[in-house]
Amino acid sequence: MQKSVIVIGSGFSGLSAASFMAKAGWKVIVIEKNSTPGGRAKQLKQDGFTFDMGPSWYWMPDVFDRFFKQFDKKTADYYQLVRLDPSYRVYWENDFSDIPASYDQLKKLFESIEPGSSKQLDKYLQEAAYKYNVGVGKLVYKPGLSLAEFLDWETIKGIFRLDVFTSIQRHVHQYFKNDKLRRLMEFPVLFLGALPSNTPALYSLMNYADIKGGTWYPNGGMYSVVKGMYQLALELGVTFSFDETVREIVVQNSEVINVVSDQSEYRPDALISSADYHFTETILQPSASRSYPESYWNKRVMAPSCLLYYIGLNKKLHNVKHHSLFFDVPFDQHADEIYSTPKWPTHPLFYVSVNSVSDPSVAPPGCDTIVFLIPVAAGLTGDTEELKREYFDIILQRMENRTGQNIKNSIVFYKSYSVSDFVNDYNSYKGNAYGLANTLRQTAILRPSCRSKKVKNLFYSGQSTVPGPGVPPALISGEVTAREVLKSFQ
Ligand SMILES: Cc1cc2nc3c(=O)[nH]c(=O)nc-3n(C[C@H](O)[C@H](O)[C@H](O)COP(=O)(O)OP(=O)(O)OC[C@H]3O[C@@H](n4cnc5c(N)ncnc54)[C@H](O)[C@@H]3O)c2cc1C
Repeated sequence: MQKSVIVIGSGFSGLSAASFMAKAGWKVIVIEKNSTPGGRAKQLKQDGFTFDMGPSWYWMPDVFDRFFKQFDKKTADYYQLVRLDPSYRVYWENDFSDIPASYDQLKKLFESIEPGSSKQLDKYLQEAAYKYNVGVGKLVYKPGLSLAEFLDWETIKGIFRLDVFTSIQRHVHQYFKNDKLRRLMEFPVLFLGALPSNTPALYSLMNYADIKGGTWYPNGGMYSVVKGMYQLALELGVTFSFDETVREIVVQNSEVINVVSDQSEYRPDALISSADYHFTETILQPSASRSYPESYWNKRVMAPSCLLYYIGLNKKLHNVKHHSLFFDVPFDQHADEIYSTPKWPTHPLFYVSVNSVSDPSVAPPGCDTIVFLIPVAAGLTGDTEELKREYFDIILQRMENRTGQNIKNSIVFYKSYSVSDFVNDYNSYKGNAYGLANTLRQTAILRPSCRSKKVKNLFYSGQSTVPGPGVPPALISGEVTAREVLKSFQ
C-alpha cells in the first residue's frame, strides 16, 4: 500500500522534502499555516511593487541545479538566472568598493587595497575550493546523526585541510592584513548567523561560493525559485493545504499516530516538520516525546532576527547597485549587541537591496523597489512602529548621504517587519530570521537532529537542523531528511 507523509511547512526545506518523498512514490500532503508557499521567502506585491520579504542573495547555483537535476529537470525549466556584476557594493567609512564578478578584476581590486594580497587570495581560494568540493559536494548531504558518517578515509585524511578546529576570523587574518579585506572575507559567514570568531574556517567555502560561484539573480526575484519548486512539487503529485495550521502532534508508543490541525486530523506513516524546530518540539508535542528540553534551547546560539523595511519610490535612484552592504561603522559593537549583550543596535550596520536595478518588472515604470535589512539580536522585545521609524530614519539618512540624493521625499510605499512578525508569521523561536547559527559548536552532528530521538516516525528539516541556515542548505536539508525517512521504512 502507498505510504503517506505529512510535511509541516512549505518553506524551501518543506518543498524540497515533499518533492523527494513524492518522487519515492509516497502520498505527500504539505500543511502550511500561511496562504502561500515559500515560508520566510514570502513575496509582497503591492501598488505595483514586488518585494522579496526574505532571502535576496542567490548563491551556490550548483546546489539548485543539482536539486532540479534529481527530478530530471533543469533550473532553467523553472526560472531564468542572471549573474550580477558587480556582485555587490560595500560602503566603508569614507569610500566604497564594487566587488566585480570577474576574478581578474577582483584581484586588481585586492592589490589596490593591499599590495601582494592578490596572490594571497589565490592561495586562500585554493583551500576554499577544496573545502567547497568536500563540504558542499559531500559532507552537507550527511544526516549528521553520528560521527561515524564522517569517518571515511578521504574525510579523515583531509580533516586538517577542512579547518574545522579554527575560526574563520583567525584563518582570514593569516592571509590578509588590511581591515577592509578582512571584513570583505569575513562577511559571507554572516549568512550562517554567527560571528567570524565563532564560525569554523571550514566556512571559507562561502568565500569560494561568493567569488567563484558568483552572485546571481532569478528574474522576477527570489520568489521565482519558490514558484519553480512549488510547480515541481505539484508536477510530482504533492498536495498542498494552505491557511491550515498544525496544532498538535499526538504520540503513542514512540510513534506519531495523529497530526491535528485547526481543520482536520491526519494519520500519516511519517511526519516531517519543516516548521521552526523549537516550535515543533515544545509547542506541538507532549514533553515526554521531545528530543531536547527547554534548557537545551536556552543555550543555543540563534541566528539573528532582522529589522526590515520594504520601500517603494516614485523615482529611480542613481548611483546604486542591486546589493549594497553598509559597513561604514565599526562592526564590533553591533556584533556585540547581537550576540553577547543583546540590545537594539547603537550604530547599526545594514544591507540594502534594490532589485529594480536589474529587474524592471519588480517596480512600476520609473520607480524603484528597495529592501533595507538591519540584523538584530533574536529575542529582542519592544519593536514598536516608533522604534522602527527611528532606525529607518538613521539608515535612510546614511544611504542618502553616501549616494548623494534625497530618498525620503520619494517614498510612496513603506512597510516594516521585525522580530514579532517572525514569531507571528512563522512561529519563529525568539523571532530568529534564519534558524540556528552555524557556530563551532553547532555544526554537523552538534546540530539538532533531523530524526527525533524518541519518536520513530518523526523527522525534521530546515534551517535549525543539518546542514544549517540559508536557501541552498534548506534544499539540501529536505533531501537529507527525505532520505532518512525512506531509510527508516526500508
Ligand atoms: C530576511 C531574511 C533574509 C535572508 N536572506 C537570505 C539570502 O539572501 N540568501 C539565503 O540563501 N538565505 C537567506 N535567508 C535564509 C533563508 O531564507 C532561510 O534559511 C530558508 O528560507 C529557511 O527555509 P525553511 O524551510 O527552513 O523554513 P521556513 O521558510 O521558515 O519554512 C517553515 C514553514 O513552516 C510554516 N509553519 C510554521 N508553523 C506551522 C504550523 N503550526 N502549521 C503549518 N505550517 C507551519 C511556516 O509558515 C513556514 O512557511 C534569509 C532569511 C530571512 C528571514
